[in-house]
Amino acid sequence: MRLMSHAHINGNGTQFRDEYARIAARACKTRNITHMVVGCHGSYIASRATMDEVRKIGVVPIRFAELNIRASKQHKRHSHVAVINIPNKKIERYQKNETTIQELLPYAKDVGCRIVLCHPSSIREITEFAPYIDGYELTNGEDSNRNFTDRNALPYFPDLVQFHGADYHVWKGKGDPNLFTELPDDWFGELYK
Ligand SMILES: [Zn+2]
Ligand SMILES: [Zn+2]
Repeated sequence: MRLMSHAHINGNGTQFRDEYARIAARACKTRNITHMVVGCHGSYIASRATMDEVRKIGVVPIRFAELNIRASKQHKRHSHVAVINIPNKKIERYQKNETTIQELLPYAKDVGCRIVLCHPSSIREITEFAPYIDGYELTNGEDSNRNFTDRNALPYFPDLVQFHGADYHVWKGKGDPNLFTELPDDWFGELYK
């Protein structure tokens, strides 16, 4: 599959979600990107109906949320992780700004989703999350706002997939819908509808 692994469709609240989902899906379709995440930040969970809007355009929807979590209780910094292929219900154990990656893992194992560290700002951040995640973003469509200064010294994490995250914020026209990640078709296992 060719996956747009990072996109946001809930920016201005409830009114235009489906339209933003369709715009992102068309952006994928014209680029031969076959699969697209549907969701946004925090506790918003895309409905089956919104997922179906993407399906109608000919792109396979995968439900996701970008969560604000820490590596451990000792860490002050909050990182963003994409939780990809989740069921149509609230994410267990997630509390904004409180949750750690260890607390999220039982849920992730239970539902069989994949976790990708979004726009890491340092090798240290990747290293802290590495035992708990499936991949991290090597590039991000909003990277001009961020500084991953030590990328040249990036070590090889043999167990982690490198992602190219569009971070497409449809309602702002920000991010880069040209970014996608090529993955085996069965990488997520069975997809939630
Ligand atoms: Zn983010
Ligand atoms: Zn994002």
